[in-house]
Amino acid sequence: MVDLKRQYEHLKLEIDQAIQNTIDTTAFINGPDVKSFRDELASYLDVEHVIPCGNGTDALQVALLSLDLEPGDEVITTPFSFIASIEVIKLLRLTPVLVDIDPLSFNLDPTLLLDAITEKTRAIIPVHLFGQCANMEEILKIAGEHGLKTIEDTAQALGTDYTFSNNQQMKAGTIGNLGTTSFFPSKNLGCFGDGGAIMTRDKDLGDRIRTMVNHGSRVKYYYDEVGVNSRLDTLQAAILRVKLRHLDEFHKARQEAAAAYDLNLGDIPQLRIPGRVPWSTHIFHQYTLILEKGSRDDLVTYLRSKDIPVMIYYPLPLHLQKAYKDLNYSNGDFPVTESMSESVFSIPMHTELEKEQIEYICQYISEYFKR
Ligand SMILES: *Cc1c(COP(=O)(O)O)cnc(C)c1O
Repeated sequence: MVDLKRQYEHLKLEIDQAIQNTIDTTAFINGPDVKSFRDELASYLDVEHVIPCGNGTDALQVALLSLDLEPGDEVITTPFSFIASIEVIKLLRLTPVLVDIDPLSFNLDPTLLLDAITEKTRAIIPVHLFGQCANMEEILKIAGEHGLKTIEDTAQALGTDYTFSNNQQMKAGTIGNLGTTSFFPSKNLGCFGDGGAIMTRDKDLGDRIRTMVNHGSRVKYYYDEVGVNSRLDTLQAAILRVKLRHLDEFHKARQEAAAAYDLNLGDIPQLRIPGRVPWSTHIFHQYTLILEKGSRDDLVTYLRSKDIPVMIYYPLPLHLQKAYKDLNYSNGDFPVTESMSESVFSIPMHTELEKEQIEYICQYISEYFKR
């Protein structure tokens, strides 16, 4: 699905030097590269505060912690996401409330938000799935009217541009009260292990979160509140500094691959190519198609037999997962999500896809539908 090896080979000189430099200085924790990466990412995103942390799940957890919610408070997110989006809500003894997605963008459908809001609702976690933004303008409007905080899960959309109806532009993850992201190796900006970050324009939240990820401490061995240990390793920051310089090129390579897929697959009547919404660019963390007719299992088996990687993101919606049974959701509660889980499939998408590979993949997909 991704080719991290060839991406590394292209950046080998720069990355090896960054790694060696970290080893030479032995500043493995909170070294200078962590601060430089923090500042460079803040400048790339045009946001005041970036707090690097251990991974994207920690980023969500600390973001939620910083809002001082009470057990039983409700937090809204979508059932069509990676497990982390709901896991952190439950872990903090808050109550996840799910809202279905719109079938074009796979993102939270703001027209369904009002029905989900109660007097216990405190926050919304929109997930910018597959590289494209949720409708933040509508979400922020409703959040504002009900005094709710928003945390954008930007793990799959770091660098995506959002355009408001007045043409103002902002980067995904810098629009709500808080944004979170992940540097998991396969993400658009991935390191060589785990990593994450929290973004905010709010100085108080920024200060609070900086303290929280460091055991709740501002002054060494003095603790103002209960915190966690969640840091980005210096080695990872050094690697991310190199990759951040190439992030816009990476997006461009993915967008070109997506355009080639569109061109080759757009005319197959049984398939729907990824939808694009007018308010967001798409950085194609995944290229996800919808099979409108036929057996997905059969198609997947066929493509894998031709050595074409295929993945299903996500095969079982969050509300139907065993660990979340006690939320008392059932099959039928989120029809769009459920139908997407049964019909989507993703094909290889990364920065190193070559024309021949795309042609090979598309040729077999076309052939499958001609049989
Ligand atoms: C990857 C991902 C996360 C979690 O990131 P980790 O760094 O693996 O903890 C959270 N949300 C979404 C939508 C993701 O894709």
